Amino acid sequence: MIENENENENESECESESIAASETTLPIQERFVSVQGEGALVGVPSSFVRVAGCNLRCTWCDSPATSWEASGRRTSLDELVEFCQDGPQHVVITGGEPLLFKGVAALTRLLAAAGHHITIETAGTVWQDDVCCDLMSISPKLSHSTPWQRAPRLAHRHDQRRIALKTLRRLMSSFTWQLKFVVQGRDAGALARDVGEIETLLTQLAVARTDRACVLLMPECVDPGALTDRYRALTRLCVERGFRVGERLHIALFGHTPGT
Ligand code: SF4
Repeated sequence: MIENENENENESECESESIAASETTLPIQERFVSVQGEGALVGVPSSFVRVAGCNLRCTWCDSPATSWEASGRRTSLDELVEFCQDGPQHVVITGGEPLLFKGVAALTRLLAAAGHHITIETAGTVWQDDVCCDLMSISPKLSHSTPWQRAPRLAHRHDQRRIALKTLRRLMSSFTWQLKFVVQGRDAGALARDVGEIETLLTQLAVARTDRACVLLMPECVDPGALTDRYRALTRLCVERGFRVGERLHIALFGHTPGT
């Protein structure tokens, strides 16, 4: 079963859970082998399977081909398993929002049976039954993600959906988790606002102080030349608060390049 806390809303603009029907194929935007660029497993060689389709519309989305202009090729689960079998043990299923798609649960079961370590990258707004996952990598979206200027008609819906407490609690109690937050680093005021939102959410989720090493703050930045300055500002803050500085290794190595 796929659950969204706001499932009774009008589904006119964003892709919805209804796109998720097939259990034997998935709309794949890209697949590739690289190293994990974010999170606790940064640097680990991994196969990436990126699903096209998302229920959110972050204004700064760094994979718009899975959200704003979603396009994917229907691909059988067998083909995806075969692709992963030829690659590293670690597999990252990302998007878009992979948990929207019924085929993702089936894919994770096949990959787990084949001995893969599975990370799912999710915004944490959707629950799906029968998923196998070694690391649920959850990236709740802060208020600066809302596209008030870019798409006012979608903005309210995005803002209502971006934090789903019940789903976040369920994901975190069911899987090994990490929380990744994209924060603004251009000025101290923006950063302080973001950190205030994060602290509030962590309180609502009852995240213990000792678990803050699993809470990663990453700069909103796709320019390799600007990353170092953003990290400096973030590092001071992370030391003060006990958060982990979240690397964006793929950006540092390759810039904002698909397939990396
Ligand atoms: S949740 Fe992820 S894929 Fe969806 S719009 Fe936001 S950044 Fe893009």
